[in-house]
Amino acid sequence: MQAFHVSLAFCTALLLSLAIKLWLASRQMRHVHAHRAQVPAPFDATIALDAHQRAADYTIARTRFGMLSESFSTAVLVGWTLLGGLDALNIQLRNAVLPWGGEMVYQLALFGAFGLISALLEMPMEWYKTFRIEQHFGFNRMSLGLFLGDQAKGLLVGGLVGLPLLAAVLWVMQATGSFWWLWAWALWTGFMLLMQVLYPTVIAPLFNRFTPLADAELAGRIQTLMQRCGFQAKGLFVMDGSRRSAHGNAYFAGMGRAKRVVFFDTLLERLQPPEVEAVLAHELGHFSHHHVRRRMALVIGLSALGLALLAWCAGQTAFYQGLGVQPNVLAPNHALALLLFMLATPPFLYFVGPLMAQLSRRDEFQADAYACRQASPQQLSSALLKLYEDNASTLTPDPLYARFYYSHPPASERLAALARA
Ligand SMILES: [Zn+2]
Repeated sequence: MQAFHVSLAFCTALLLSLAIKLWLASRQMRHVHAHRAQVPAPFDATIALDAHQRAADYTIARTRFGMLSESFSTAVLVGWTLLGGLDALNIQLRNAVLPWGGEMVYQLALFGAFGLISALLEMPMEWYKTFRIEQHFGFNRMSLGLFLGDQAKGLLVGGLVGLPLLAAVLWVMQATGSFWWLWAWALWTGFMLLMQVLYPTVIAPLFNRFTPLADAELAGRIQTLMQRCGFQAKGLFVMDGSRRSAHGNAYFAGMGRAKRVVFFDTLLERLQPPEVEAVLAHELGHFSHHHVRRRMALVIGLSALGLALLAWCAGQTAFYQGLGVQPNVLAPNHALALLLFMLATPPFLYFVGPLMAQLSRRDEFQADAYACRQASPQQLSSALLKLYEDNASTLTPDPLYARFYYSHPPASERLAALARA
């Protein structure tokens, strides 16, 4: 492998993925705009024209912003790699930290500084999305103070959770020889499983308040549904999602018997109890078909592949040089290799996205079919319609765009399947 080949492959994947992203986004905007004047046929009795147009405008605004932010991210990525940003940061920190802090502190400092700079670069984009786009369409409920508090808390939690994990991975890379990636894989898998338990109970409560579901009628309905489906959960909770956004949702968190059901307060405000029941039945469908466990197994399997590939790359000088970095001679390259790998793989993984989306849409159809057996198809339809309307999701996406990106089937396909149930 030569440095030139690495640069060439990286540039090709980066430019090709950006070109496809921009092309698909412009198709989506054109398609949505072309169908803006009229509510499409299956929905014209239930969706008002102004709601349809608001959804069109929201979709176009978000897609246009997506084109801008993707271009920006690509520029930042080129800046880190081929233009030498990471190399410069590495040299500065190596000279400043290595003499007094030693190898581990230098490597953690490199990651920390990279994370901090990336967060600062992304913040204006995040700010614009929240306070311009979401605000304009009435979705944002965050103040600037809450926004900045979230950013600070996110960095703090990321540091508190991420740095010890990183230190452990770097130690494993250093200490366990050429099969370090197997040990790192075991460590990473353990960490992911631990987060399944820690996230809902420790981390999420730092950002939101969770209160037990007080509505006795709804709680009774849900308990009956869960019994019918043979499902156990450790409690029903309402989350104050309305603190940040008007978008509604419901989810399961945790594993085994520690699972909890979480409803956004915004969802409960909007849906009737039978509709909430149908939405929950859909979520139970994901569990009943083992979608969640399968997804987890897939992630764990792909992590092994990724780490094995990283282990191979980390030993090739061309890998560093091809991505704009001179490897260290007198210090370990583990942190550098890990960072470069995290930067370099997304443009390649982009091309696997459509396959993942396809699998996800198949799961959604299965979960819907399950919900139709355990609850009312009509109630699920009407709940979905309300959610589409409230979230200003377009009913007329470009078919190719939807095929490429949508993790859920487009409204027309999904409701047609429910109507047949
Ligand atoms: Zn689903």
